[in-house]
Amino acid sequence: MMPMFPILRLILPFFASLCGLQAQAANPPIQYPWDLLQQRAKVYEEDIRWNLDKAMLPRLTPAERAALGKAHLEVPIRGGLAGHHALRRDKLGVIVMPAESVRFFSDLCTATAWLAARGYSLSTITDYLGMLKYSDPKSLGLLRMPLPLDALSIPEAELSDSGVESRRSACFSTGVVFILAHEIGHLVLGHRGYEGIGSIEAQDNEAAADAFALELFSRMGDLPLGALYYFTYASHLETHRGDYGSNAAWRAHVRDTTHPISPARVEALKAGLKRRASRFAAGRAAALTLADEVGVIADALTDTELHQLIRLQGETVRPYMLAPRRTDFWQVRPPAKRLPSIPFSGYYEGWLGYDAGERIPTQLVMHRDGNRVSGRYSYAGIGGSFTGLVKGQTMSYRWRQPGGSGKSQMSGSADSLRGSFEARDGSRGIFEIRRRL
Ligand SMILES: [Zn+2]
Repeated sequence: MMPMFPILRLILPFFASLCGLQAQAANPPIQYPWDLLQQRAKVYEEDIRWNLDKAMLPRLTPAERAALGKAHLEVPIRGGLAGHHALRRDKLGVIVMPAESVRFFSDLCTATAWLAARGYSLSTITDYLGMLKYSDPKSLGLLRMPLPLDALSIPEAELSDSGVESRRSACFSTGVVFILAHEIGHLVLGHRGYEGIGSIEAQDNEAAADAFALELFSRMGDLPLGALYYFTYASHLETHRGDYGSNAAWRAHVRDTTHPISPARVEALKAGLKRRASRFAAGRAAALTLADEVGVIADALTDTELHQLIRLQGETVRPYMLAPRRTDFWQVRPPAKRLPSIPFSGYYEGWLGYDAGERIPTQLVMHRDGNRVSGRYSYAGIGGSFTGLVKGQTMSYRWRQPGGSGKSQMSGSADSLRGSFEARDGSRGIFEIRRRL
Protein backbone atom coordinates (compact mmCIF):
# COMPACT_ATOMS: atom_id res chain seq x y z
CA MET A 1 0.00 0.00 0.00
CA MET A 2 1.32 3.44 -0.85
CA PRO A 3 1.85 5.85 1.99
CA MET A 4 -1.25 8.01 1.81
CA PHE A 5 -1.28 11.49 3.19
CA PRO A 6 -4.22 12.76 5.16
CA ILE A 7 -6.24 14.86 2.80
CA LEU A 8 -6.34 18.57 3.56
CA ARG A 9 -9.58 20.10 4.68
CA LEU A 10 -8.97 23.42 3.02
CA ILE A 11 -7.90 22.36 -0.38
CA LEU A 12 -8.41 24.24 -3.55
CA PRO A 13 -6.18 22.78 -6.17
CA PHE A 14 -6.43 24.25 -9.59
CA PHE A 15 -5.09 21.79 -12.05
CA ALA A 16 -4.93 24.62 -14.50
CA SER A 17 -2.05 26.13 -12.59
CA LEU A 18 0.29 23.31 -13.47
CA CYS A 19 1.97 25.40 -16.11
CA GLY A 20 1.13 28.53 -14.44
CA LEU A 21 1.69 31.31 -12.01
CA GLN A 22 3.65 33.10 -14.67
CA ALA A 23 2.58 36.36 -13.09
CA GLN A 24 4.58 35.36 -10.04
CA ALA A 25 7.65 34.53 -12.00
CA ALA A 26 9.05 38.03 -12.14
CA ASN A 27 8.74 38.71 -8.46
CA PRO A 28 8.11 35.71 -6.22
CA PRO A 29 7.20 36.58 -2.63
CA ILE A 30 10.15 34.60 -1.25
CA GLN A 31 13.75 34.50 -2.41
CA TYR A 32 15.93 31.44 -2.00
CA PRO A 33 19.65 32.22 -1.76
CA TRP A 34 21.23 32.00 -5.21
CA ASP A 35 24.02 29.68 -3.98
CA LEU A 36 21.54 27.20 -2.59
CA LEU A 37 19.58 27.09 -5.83
CA GLN A 38 22.69 26.83 -7.96
CA GLN A 39 23.87 23.84 -5.97
CA ARG A 40 20.45 22.14 -6.04
CA ALA A 41 19.90 22.88 -9.73
CA LYS A 42 22.56 20.34 -10.71
CA VAL A 43 20.93 17.59 -8.64
CA TYR A 44 17.44 18.42 -9.89
CA GLU A 45 18.62 18.46 -13.48
CA GLU A 46 20.28 15.05 -13.14
CA ASP A 47 17.23 13.51 -11.48
CA ILE A 48 14.72 14.99 -13.89
CA ARG A 49 16.86 14.05 -16.89
CA TRP A 50 17.10 10.48 -15.59
CA ASN A 51 13.31 10.33 -15.37
CA LEU A 52 12.96 11.82 -18.82
CA ASP A 53 15.44 9.41 -20.46
CA LYS A 54 14.82 6.22 -18.50
CA ALA A 55 11.22 6.42 -17.31
CA MET A 56 9.36 8.60 -19.81
CA LEU A 57 10.84 8.34 -23.30
CA PRO A 58 10.94 4.52 -23.41
CA ARG A 59 7.22 4.47 -22.64
CA LEU A 60 6.14 6.70 -25.49
CA THR A 61 4.65 5.05 -28.56
CA PRO A 62 6.60 5.51 -31.81
CA ALA A 63 4.00 8.05 -32.95
CA GLU A 64 4.34 10.01 -29.70
CA ARG A 65 8.12 9.98 -29.95
CA ALA A 66 7.95 11.26 -33.48
CA ALA A 67 5.58 14.04 -32.41
CA LEU A 68 7.86 14.99 -29.53
CA GLY A 69 11.02 15.07 -31.62
CA LYS A 70 14.19 15.85 -29.73
CA ALA A 71 13.45 16.78 -26.12
CA HIS A 72 15.61 19.21 -24.25
CA LEU A 73 15.48 19.90 -20.51
CA GLU A 74 16.41 23.25 -18.97
CA VAL A 75 16.73 23.93 -15.24
CA PRO A 76 17.32 27.68 -14.84
CA ILE A 77 18.04 28.99 -11.35
CA ARG A 78 15.14 31.44 -11.09
CA GLY A 79 11.70 31.26 -12.62
CA GLY A 80 9.11 31.80 -9.90
CA LEU A 81 7.48 29.45 -7.45
CA ALA A 82 5.59 27.43 -10.07
CA GLY A 83 7.19 28.42 -13.34
CA HIS A 84 7.31 25.08 -15.18
CA HIS A 85 6.45 25.23 -18.84
CA ALA A 86 7.21 23.78 -22.26
CA LEU A 87 7.99 25.47 -25.55
CA ARG A 88 9.13 24.73 -29.11
CA ARG A 89 12.46 26.11 -30.21
CA ASP A 90 13.06 25.22 -33.83
CA LYS A 91 12.84 21.42 -33.92
CA LEU A 92 13.60 21.14 -30.23
CA GLY A 93 10.94 20.46 -27.61
CA VAL A 94 12.12 22.45 -24.59
CA ILE A 95 10.92 21.63 -21.08
CA VAL A 96 11.72 24.34 -18.54
CA MET A 97 11.65 23.44 -14.84
CA PRO A 98 13.22 26.24 -12.75
CA ALA A 99 15.29 25.17 -9.71
CA GLU A 100 13.41 27.80 -7.72
CA SER A 101 10.06 26.17 -8.52
CA VAL A 102 11.35 22.65 -7.85
CA ARG A 103 12.91 23.70 -4.54
CA PHE A 104 9.72 25.40 -3.40
CA PHE A 105 7.69 22.26 -4.10
CA SER A 106 10.38 20.14 -2.42
CA ASP A 107 10.14 22.27 0.73
CA LEU A 108 6.37 21.97 0.78
CA CYS A 109 6.65 18.17 0.44
CA THR A 110 9.18 18.10 3.26
CA ALA A 111 6.86 20.13 5.47
CA THR A 112 3.89 17.94 4.50
CA ALA A 113 5.82 14.77 5.31
CA TRP A 114 7.10 15.93 8.70
CA LEU A 115 3.79 17.43 9.84
CA ALA A 116 1.83 14.34 8.75
CA ALA A 117 4.33 11.92 10.31
CA ARG A 118 4.09 13.77 13.62
CA GLY A 119 0.30 14.03 13.61
CA TYR A 120 0.16 17.77 12.96
CA SER A 121 -2.33 19.60 10.81
CA LEU A 122 -1.36 20.45 7.22
CA SER A 123 -3.39 23.64 7.46
CA THR A 124 -0.34 25.61 8.58
CA ILE A 125 1.07 25.02 5.09
CA THR A 126 -1.96 26.50 3.36
CA ASP A 127 -2.00 29.32 5.94
CA TYR A 128 1.62 30.03 5.02
CA LEU A 129 0.76 30.11 1.33
CA GLY A 130 -2.12 32.47 2.13
CA MET A 131 0.32 34.69 3.97
CA LEU A 132 2.60 34.75 0.92
CA LYS A 133 -0.33 35.65 -1.31
CA TYR A 134 -2.12 38.24 0.80
CA SER A 135 0.57 39.83 2.99
CA ASP A 136 3.89 41.51 2.53
CA PRO A 137 6.93 41.67 4.83
CA LYS A 138 6.25 45.27 5.81
CA SER A 139 2.74 44.65 7.11
CA LEU A 140 4.02 41.66 9.09
CA GLY A 141 6.92 43.60 10.58
CA LEU A 142 9.49 41.43 8.79
CA LEU A 143 12.46 42.24 6.58
CA ARG A 144 11.50 39.50 4.13
CA MET A 145 9.01 36.65 3.89
CA PRO A 146 10.34 33.52 5.60
CA LEU A 147 11.20 30.43 3.54
CA PRO A 148 8.77 27.50 4.03
CA LEU A 149 10.72 25.29 6.45
CA ASP A 150 11.65 28.26 8.64
CA ALA A 151 8.15 29.68 8.63
CA LEU A 152 6.61 26.31 9.55
CA SER A 153 9.21 25.43 12.24
CA ILE A 154 10.14 22.14 10.59
CA PRO A 155 13.13 20.71 12.54
CA GLU A 156 15.92 19.89 10.11
CA ALA A 157 17.38 17.24 12.41
CA GLU A 158 14.27 15.05 12.05
CA LEU A 159 14.05 15.06 8.28
CA SER A 160 16.23 11.98 7.84
CA ASP A 161 13.78 9.80 9.82
CA SER A 162 12.70 7.00 7.51
CA GLY A 163 9.02 7.72 8.16
CA VAL A 164 9.45 11.35 7.14
CA GLU A 165 11.73 10.60 4.21
CA SER A 166 9.46 8.00 2.61
CA ARG A 167 6.48 10.37 2.79
CA ARG A 168 8.52 13.25 1.44
CA SER A 169 9.78 11.20 -1.42
CA ALA A 170 6.30 9.89 -2.30
CA CYS A 171 5.09 13.47 -2.58
CA PHE A 172 8.10 15.05 -4.25
CA SER A 173 9.22 12.49 -6.81
CA THR A 174 5.79 11.69 -8.21
CA GLY A 175 4.89 15.39 -8.19
CA VAL A 176 7.94 16.46 -10.16
CA VAL A 177 7.61 13.56 -12.58
CA PHE A 178 3.94 14.36 -13.12
CA ILE A 179 4.87 17.94 -14.02
CA LEU A 180 7.50 16.58 -16.41
CA ALA A 181 4.96 14.22 -17.98
CA HIS A 182 2.43 17.04 -18.31
CA GLU A 183 4.97 19.24 -20.12
CA ILE A 184 5.93 16.36 -22.42
CA GLY A 185 2.20 16.08 -23.09
CA HIS A 186 2.04 19.67 -24.34
CA LEU A 187 4.91 18.98 -26.73
CA VAL A 188 3.66 15.61 -27.98
CA LEU A 189 0.19 17.04 -28.55
CA GLY A 190 1.64 19.99 -30.46
CA HIS A 191 0.13 22.68 -28.27
CA ARG A 192 0.97 26.26 -29.07
CA GLY A 193 2.16 28.50 -26.25
CA TYR A 194 -0.27 30.78 -24.46
CA GLU A 195 0.56 33.84 -26.51
CA GLY A 196 -2.37 34.68 -28.66
CA ILE A 197 -4.65 31.72 -27.95
CA GLY A 198 -8.04 31.92 -26.30
CA SER A 199 -8.83 30.76 -22.81
CA ILE A 200 -10.99 27.89 -24.06
CA GLU A 201 -8.14 26.47 -26.12
CA ALA A 202 -5.73 26.99 -23.22
CA GLN A 203 -8.03 25.15 -20.84
CA ASP A 204 -8.50 22.30 -23.29
CA ASN A 205 -4.74 22.07 -23.70
CA GLU A 206 -4.21 21.87 -19.94
CA ALA A 207 -6.80 19.11 -19.62
CA ALA A 208 -5.24 17.19 -22.51
CA ALA A 209 -1.74 17.49 -21.00
CA ASP A 210 -3.10 16.25 -17.65
CA ALA A 211 -4.69 13.26 -19.37
CA PHE A 212 -1.45 12.53 -21.22
CA ALA A 213 0.54 12.65 -17.96
CA LEU A 214 -1.93 10.31 -16.30
CA GLU A 215 -1.71 7.88 -19.20
CA LEU A 216 2.10 7.94 -18.96
CA PHE A 217 1.90 7.27 -15.23
CA SER A 218 -0.35 4.29 -15.80
CA ARG A 219 2.17 2.92 -18.32
CA MET A 220 4.85 3.27 -15.60
CA GLY A 221 2.47 1.75 -13.05
CA ASP A 222 2.96 4.58 -10.54
CA LEU A 223 0.23 6.63 -8.90
CA PRO A 224 0.73 10.40 -9.30
CA LEU A 225 0.24 11.06 -5.60
CA GLY A 226 2.49 14.13 -5.54
CA ALA A 227 0.43 15.81 -8.26
CA LEU A 228 -2.37 16.15 -5.74
CA TYR A 229 -0.09 18.13 -3.44
CA TYR A 230 1.44 20.18 -6.21
CA PHE A 231 -1.96 21.37 -7.39
CA THR A 232 -3.19 21.95 -3.88
CA TYR A 233 -0.28 24.17 -2.98
CA ALA A 234 -0.04 26.00 -6.30
CA SER A 235 -3.73 26.78 -6.12
CA HIS A 236 -3.36 28.67 -2.88
CA LEU A 237 -1.09 31.13 -4.62
CA GLU A 238 -3.32 31.58 -7.62
CA THR A 239 -6.34 33.83 -8.00
CA HIS A 240 -9.57 32.12 -6.96
CA ARG A 241 -13.25 32.79 -6.38
CA GLY A 242 -12.55 34.25 -2.93
CA ASP A 243 -10.63 37.09 -4.59
CA TYR A 244 -13.75 38.28 -6.41
CA GLY A 245 -16.79 40.02 -4.99
CA SER A 246 -19.37 38.24 -7.11
CA ASN A 247 -19.88 35.16 -9.22
CA ALA A 248 -20.21 37.36 -12.29
CA ALA A 249 -16.85 39.05 -11.70
CA TRP A 250 -15.26 35.68 -11.09
CA ARG A 251 -16.73 34.16 -14.26
CA ALA A 252 -15.47 37.11 -16.26
CA HIS A 253 -11.99 36.47 -14.89
CA VAL A 254 -12.23 32.76 -15.73
CA ARG A 255 -13.30 33.62 -19.28
CA ASP A 256 -10.39 35.98 -19.78
CA THR A 257 -7.51 33.95 -18.39
CA THR A 258 -5.65 31.00 -19.76
CA HIS A 259 -5.33 29.29 -16.36
CA PRO A 260 -8.73 29.43 -14.68
CA ILE A 261 -10.10 27.00 -12.14
CA SER A 262 -12.11 24.26 -13.64
CA PRO A 263 -13.95 21.68 -11.58
CA ALA A 264 -14.61 19.85 -14.84
CA ARG A 265 -10.90 19.32 -15.34
CA VAL A 266 -10.41 17.96 -11.85
CA GLU A 267 -13.38 15.67 -12.45
CA ALA A 268 -11.70 14.56 -15.67
CA LEU A 269 -8.59 13.61 -13.75
CA LYS A 270 -10.65 11.71 -11.23
CA ALA A 271 -12.41 9.86 -14.04
CA GLY A 272 -9.06 9.13 -15.69
CA LEU A 273 -7.70 7.63 -12.49
CA LYS A 274 -10.77 5.47 -12.06
CA ARG A 275 -10.67 4.28 -15.66
CA ARG A 276 -7.04 3.20 -15.31
CA ALA A 277 -7.33 2.03 -11.68
CA SER A 278 -6.26 -1.55 -12.33
CA ARG A 279 -3.11 -0.50 -14.18
CA PHE A 280 -1.23 0.86 -11.16
CA ALA A 281 1.24 -1.24 -9.18
CA ALA A 282 -0.15 0.04 -5.88
CA GLY A 283 -3.37 -1.74 -6.78
CA ARG A 284 -6.86 -0.85 -7.79
CA ALA A 285 -7.96 0.07 -4.26
CA ALA A 286 -5.16 2.62 -3.82
CA ALA A 287 -5.93 4.17 -7.20
CA LEU A 288 -9.62 4.45 -6.35
CA THR A 289 -8.74 6.05 -3.00
CA LEU A 290 -6.64 8.63 -4.79
CA ALA A 291 -9.48 9.19 -7.26
CA ASP A 292 -11.82 9.84 -4.33
CA GLU A 293 -9.39 12.37 -2.88
CA VAL A 294 -9.27 14.11 -6.23
CA GLY A 295 -13.09 14.09 -6.13
CA VAL A 296 -13.05 15.88 -2.77
CA ILE A 297 -10.96 18.54 -4.45
CA ALA A 298 -13.39 18.86 -7.35
CA ASP A 299 -16.21 19.46 -4.87
CA ALA A 300 -14.16 22.06 -3.04
CA LEU A 301 -13.65 23.95 -6.28
CA THR A 302 -17.34 24.77 -6.50
CA ASP A 303 -17.53 25.94 -2.89
CA THR A 304 -17.66 29.74 -2.75
CA GLU A 305 -17.72 29.92 1.05
CA LEU A 306 -14.63 27.79 1.25
CA HIS A 307 -12.77 30.15 -1.06
CA GLN A 308 -13.87 33.14 0.99
CA LEU A 309 -12.73 31.41 4.13
CA ILE A 310 -9.35 30.70 2.60
CA ARG A 311 -8.97 34.35 1.70
CA LEU A 312 -10.02 35.44 5.18
CA GLN A 313 -7.45 33.13 6.76
CA GLY A 314 -4.76 34.26 4.36
CA GLU A 315 -5.39 37.90 5.15
CA THR A 316 -5.31 37.47 8.91
CA VAL A 317 -2.62 34.85 9.44
CA ARG A 318 0.54 36.01 11.23
CA PRO A 319 3.92 34.26 11.34
CA TYR A 320 3.47 33.06 14.95
CA MET A 321 0.30 31.18 13.93
CA LEU A 322 2.31 28.91 11.65
CA ALA A 323 3.78 26.80 14.47
CA PRO A 324 2.86 23.10 14.20
CA ARG A 325 -0.58 22.40 15.65
CA ARG A 326 -2.60 19.25 16.17
CA THR A 327 -5.21 18.41 13.54
CA ASP A 328 -7.93 18.83 16.16
CA PHE A 329 -6.42 21.98 17.64
CA TRP A 330 -9.60 24.05 17.34
CA GLN A 331 -12.08 21.28 17.99
CA VAL A 332 -14.46 21.88 20.87
CA ARG A 333 -14.67 18.78 23.10
CA PRO A 334 -17.28 17.65 25.60
CA PRO A 335 -16.53 19.21 29.01
CA ALA A 336 -15.27 16.93 31.79
CA LYS A 337 -18.03 18.10 34.12
CA ARG A 338 -21.72 17.91 33.27
CA LEU A 339 -23.25 21.35 32.75
CA PRO A 340 -26.78 22.27 33.99
CA SER A 341 -29.53 20.85 31.74
CA ILE A 342 -31.16 24.18 30.95
CA PRO A 343 -31.49 25.89 27.56
CA PHE A 344 -28.25 27.38 26.24
CA SER A 345 -26.09 25.32 28.58
CA GLY A 346 -24.04 22.21 27.85
CA TYR A 347 -22.22 20.51 25.03
CA TYR A 348 -23.95 20.40 21.62
CA GLU A 349 -23.26 18.79 18.27
CA GLY A 350 -24.95 19.40 14.95
CA TRP A 351 -24.41 20.83 11.50
CA LEU A 352 -24.27 24.12 9.67
CA GLY A 353 -24.66 24.92 6.02
CA TYR A 354 -26.01 27.12 3.28
CA ASP A 355 -29.08 26.50 1.16
CA ALA A 356 -27.43 24.45 -1.51
CA GLY A 357 -24.18 23.52 0.23
CA GLU A 358 -23.10 20.51 2.21
CA ARG A 359 -23.81 20.08 5.93
CA ILE A 360 -20.68 20.73 7.94
CA PRO A 361 -20.41 19.06 11.37
CA THR A 362 -20.16 21.57 14.22
CA GLN A 363 -19.55 21.39 17.97
CA LEU A 364 -20.44 23.94 20.67
CA VAL A 365 -20.04 24.28 24.37
CA MET A 366 -22.11 26.87 26.29
CA HIS A 367 -21.82 28.09 29.87
CA ARG A 368 -24.87 29.93 31.16
CA ASP A 369 -24.92 32.28 34.12
CA GLY A 370 -28.33 33.89 34.60
CA ASN A 371 -29.22 35.45 31.26
CA ARG A 372 -25.63 35.57 30.09
CA VAL A 373 -24.00 32.84 28.04
CA SER A 374 -20.42 32.39 26.92
CA GLY A 375 -19.18 29.62 24.70
CA ARG A 376 -16.95 28.26 22.00
CA TYR A 377 -17.69 26.51 18.71
CA SER A 378 -15.81 24.65 16.02
CA TYR A 379 -16.44 23.42 12.49
CA ALA A 380 -14.25 22.31 9.60
CA GLY A 381 -11.02 22.84 11.53
CA ILE A 382 -11.98 26.38 12.52
CA GLY A 383 -12.81 27.63 15.98
CA GLY A 384 -14.49 30.70 17.46
CA SER A 385 -16.09 32.03 20.61
CA PHE A 386 -19.27 33.91 21.43
CA THR A 387 -21.09 35.76 24.21
CA GLY A 388 -24.86 35.96 24.33
CA LEU A 389 -27.91 37.23 26.14
CA VAL A 390 -30.98 35.02 26.67
CA LYS A 391 -34.50 36.39 26.38
CA GLY A 392 -37.18 33.74 26.68
CA GLN A 393 -36.33 30.95 24.23
CA THR A 394 -33.97 33.03 22.13
CA MET A 395 -30.35 33.96 22.61
CA SER A 396 -28.83 36.92 20.79
CA TYR A 397 -25.09 36.57 20.58
CA ARG A 398 -21.95 38.06 19.17
CA TRP A 399 -19.44 35.65 17.66
CA ARG A 400 -15.79 36.07 16.86
CA GLN A 401 -13.32 33.89 14.99
CA PRO A 402 -10.00 34.47 13.26
CA GLY A 403 -10.72 36.90 10.46
CA GLY A 404 -14.29 37.79 11.35
CA SER A 405 -17.04 38.61 13.82
CA GLY A 406 -20.77 39.17 13.71
CA LYS A 407 -24.14 39.05 15.45
CA SER A 408 -26.68 36.29 15.34
CA GLN A 409 -29.48 34.49 17.14
CA MET A 410 -30.45 30.96 18.06
CA SER A 411 -33.59 29.61 19.66
CA GLY A 412 -35.29 26.40 20.68
CA SER A 413 -35.61 24.04 23.62
CA ALA A 414 -33.10 22.74 26.16
CA ASP A 415 -32.17 19.85 23.88
CA SER A 416 -32.43 21.28 20.40
CA LEU A 417 -31.49 24.69 18.99
CA ARG A 418 -31.63 26.33 15.58
CA GLY A 419 -30.14 29.52 14.30
CA SER A 420 -28.91 31.41 11.30
CA PHE A 421 -25.79 33.32 10.48
CA GLU A 422 -24.66 35.70 7.80
CA ALA A 423 -21.53 35.15 5.75
CA ARG A 424 -19.32 38.01 4.66
CA ASP A 425 -20.85 38.14 1.20
CA GLY A 426 -24.33 38.46 2.69
CA SER A 427 -25.47 34.88 2.03
CA ARG A 428 -27.31 33.35 4.96
CA GLY A 429 -26.59 29.99 6.49
CA ILE A 430 -28.45 27.97 9.07
CA PHE A 431 -27.43 25.54 11.78
CA GLU A 432 -29.10 22.96 13.96
CA ILE A 433 -27.56 21.55 17.12
CA ARG A 434 -28.61 18.99 19.72
CA ARG A 435 -27.51 18.71 23.31
CA ARG A 436 -25.14 15.78 23.90
CA LEU A 437 -24.02 16.48 27.48
ZN1 LIG B 1 0.25 22.85 -18.86
